[in-house]
Amino acid sequence: MAHLDWEYAPAPESAAVGRLRERYQMFVGGRFVDGRGDDVKTINPATEEPLASVSTADAADIDDAVRAARTAFEGPWSRLTAAQRGTYLFRIARGIAERARELAVVETLDNGKPIKESRDVDVPTASAHFFHHAGWADKLTHAGYGVSVRPLGVAGQVIPWNFPLLMAAWKIAPALAAGNTVVIKPAETTPLSILLLAEIIADADLPPGVVNVVTGAGDVGAALVNHPGIDKVAFTGSTEVGRQIQASLAGTGRKITLELGGKAANIVFDDAPVDQAVEGIVNGIFFNQGHVCCAGSRLLVQESVADEVVGKLQARIATLRVGDPMDKNTDVGAINSAGQLATIRSLTDAGDAEGAVRWTSPCPLPDRGFYFAPTVFTRVSQSMRIAREEIFGPVLSVLTFRTPDEAITKANNTPYGLSAGVWTEKGSRILGMASALRAGVVWANTFNRFDPTAAFGGYKESGFGREGGRSGLAAYLDTDDEPPAPRASDDDTVLDAVVESAIAELAGTPDNPTEAAVLSELVRRSTERRGSGSCGSAPAQPVPAVAAPRSTRVGVRKTYKLFIGGAFPRSESGRTYPATGGVGGSIRANVAQGSRKDARDAVLAARKAFGTWSTATAYNRGQVLYRIAEMLEGRREQFVDLLGGGFANERLVNAAIDRWVHYAGWTDKLAAVFGSANPVAGPYFSFSTPEPTGVVVAVAPADDPLLGLVGVLAPIITAGNTAVVLASQPAPLAAVTLAEVLATSDLPGGVVNILTGDPLEMAPHLAAHADVNALDLTGVPGPARAELERAAAGTVKRVYSPGPQDFLRTPGTARLRAFLEIKTVWHPTGAVSLAGGGGY
Ligand code: NDP
Repeated sequence: MAHLDWEYAPAPESAAVGRLRERYQMFVGGRFVDGRGDDVKTINPATEEPLASVSTADAADIDDAVRAARTAFEGPWSRLTAAQRGTYLFRIARGIAERARELAVVETLDNGKPIKESRDVDVPTASAHFFHHAGWADKLTHAGYGVSVRPLGVAGQVIPWNFPLLMAAWKIAPALAAGNTVVIKPAETTPLSILLLAEIIADADLPPGVVNVVTGAGDVGAALVNHPGIDKVAFTGSTEVGRQIQASLAGTGRKITLELGGKAANIVFDDAPVDQAVEGIVNGIFFNQGHVCCAGSRLLVQESVADEVVGKLQARIATLRVGDPMDKNTDVGAINSAGQLATIRSLTDAGDAEGAVRWTSPCPLPDRGFYFAPTVFTRVSQSMRIAREEIFGPVLSVLTFRTPDEAITKANNTPYGLSAGVWTEKGSRILGMASALRAGVVWANTFNRFDPTAAFGGYKESGFGREGGRSGLAAYLDTDDEPPAPRASDDDTVLDAVVESAIAELAGTPDNPTEAAVLSELVRRSTERRGSGSCGSAPAQPVPAVAAPRSTRVGVRKTYKLFIGGAFPRSESGRTYPATGGVGGSIRANVAQGSRKDARDAVLAARKAFGTWSTATAYNRGQVLYRIAEMLEGRREQFVDLLGGGFANERLVNAAIDRWVHYAGWTDKLAAVFGSANPVAGPYFSFSTPEPTGVVVAVAPADDPLLGLVGVLAPIITAGNTAVVLASQPAPLAAVTLAEVLATSDLPGGVVNILTGDPLEMAPHLAAHADVNALDLTGVPGPARAELERAAAGTVKRVYSPGPQDFLRTPGTARLRAFLEIKTVWHPTGAVSLAGGGGY
């Protein structure tokens, strides 16, 4: 048979559909206005020709935009009913659908992505996000965050250039559904589609100022996120800038979500359907030129099939059409900017220099414009830059593995944790891998699927917070059980509510001297605090011992050691200090003065225990925790005595035991309450499930040595995390006694590690520790928090930094949610599709 050489005829979309204008203005207060910054030219990366001039913002424009958003928030937007807000979102969704072709053309011209992707993925998914969130607006009380949820206020949002319209939809839709107003900044190189979206929003008659778009470069983004009038910051972009933002917002008490970079492993087992896997690998790394935070940029292929897979992959990649993004047949378009092209070149050069073997698709490239031919590196080792750093281009690094365990270790060997792929015919292996991979999204036998109902977001340095679905709403809601984080000047060591309720219960004349002493101490502290307004910046002072009735016996004075890895080591510091059990506590002992080295040992022990504890069944964890509650009950009187005796302390001990029981009962409810089955628009089964964050360092409240400690610790370990707790410095005896209970319980060693000493001496090291995933700063005085939050930004740690808390009150879910990641898993239903593209 004669050989047929198939060639596609060009099928260009018309640029005229985009109706580009010569100049674009910003959108502030419901009007298109000139910014006070210099105009910039946005160019078509496919041709390097200018597309349009765009006005940019300066600091005064940011002020104007934030003011407009505030006025809209306090005025018309908040006066609407939730259903009316939903109707506006519905109008925007329709507006996007009606102008879909124009939006797709503008997106492709400005960004360089293939028109078939803008048309089939970016624009319809953006519209779908508004539809989905339109329906949430009047159902927020059903989202699982309580019945009195409120918007946060004005959201400052910064988005990147890789999915300009889609990222705008991901940010704006949930913010508005939750009742917030927004000021959003697109990337300097891709402002056009969001300015078109602004037209759609204006046409939808949204009240002026509900959505404001300010344009410009990184300095405009920095001015926006740091503006004092912003209540919430949402950022998508590089991990580097995400870190800077987290650090610069330390101590402001502002809610932040960060969606950052990734270095996803796409794992192919030897039993995988090879042809489908090859399509999935191609889709995973060449979709959107690889400018995808969740791109499958590391291929991990089982050694026995590596040659076959790589051979078929190269043959398939050679057929990808690279070139004019406006051509409907183009598979890989232009790199978004000269700067990004230079980054890709420099990283691939590093791949050559470090000894990897480069293969480049033999495709022809256009003479003008920013293009990079699809590239595959083999013989890649884990230490190479191309295996560790985000290249953000059409470049795949291939590594091999022999066993599933090796695949998991290699896949997780990255500071990132955004996504992963698994290709295998074995259902049990899919689910096993999905749970072992530390990534926010796991695609099984598919890749790069997105849906507004399915949560998306990262573990580790890929950021925190989720976008999409029920979890995504949490980022824009204020809930009753989330005490507002204190600003740097607030005093969060005050537990006035506890004090007040204890006083209320003790009203009337107490009839023994200890009781009277406790009461007078509580009153004194409460009055002092109220008198001192919101200062209280000094660390908690040791609680003065209050005389209790004395027996004549001379007791043996004990010296307590630290509790690390299930054992009781001495502090490496060799120091101890005298301490008591609580307000009015007469029992005195010496406790270890923990040091930086002890803190490091505790993190090591917690990390070691994480594997066992996080993979224990929920039932098992519950049983272990219930048993501990029984043991606490057995020591109830001892705890009351330790705290100083009397009715108030008895009440606090009872509450602590009840609190432990409460959390023990949560272990097997977390998945039902925080997880979801996601009704995605496609032949996929998708579910989201909560997982523990990892090693959590918690500073327990100084003033509430047992209930505060339990209130902080129990939710952390309930969720499967392991903990390093810094106990109350002045009154640590309840903590060290709790350690004795834990040591004799079934809790695996290392799940809880308790350090005594000065929390403010150890906490900075722990906040900066690379192997700590999250911080709970409940017991840290306001002014000291900023420094710890800044240190935490170095490795993008989750930080829970609540305001004063009344631990006597029934706990909500905020403390549980603070240390849970949501993982979304996808699998095709029915036949595995060969279709490439990003889904939708
Ligand atoms: P950036 O993180 O620099 O940019 C993302 C957004 O933040 C843009 O709007 C940018 O403005 C803005 N910005 C830049 N600096 C600041 C700042 N200090 N404060 C607030 N906002 C700021 O990403 P790049 O575009 O420079 O890309 C660099 C790398 O980041 C890529 O190679 C890729 O690895 C990664 N990346 C990851 C993305 C993801 O989705 N996870 C998306 C984009 C990039 P402007 O662009 O106008 O300077």
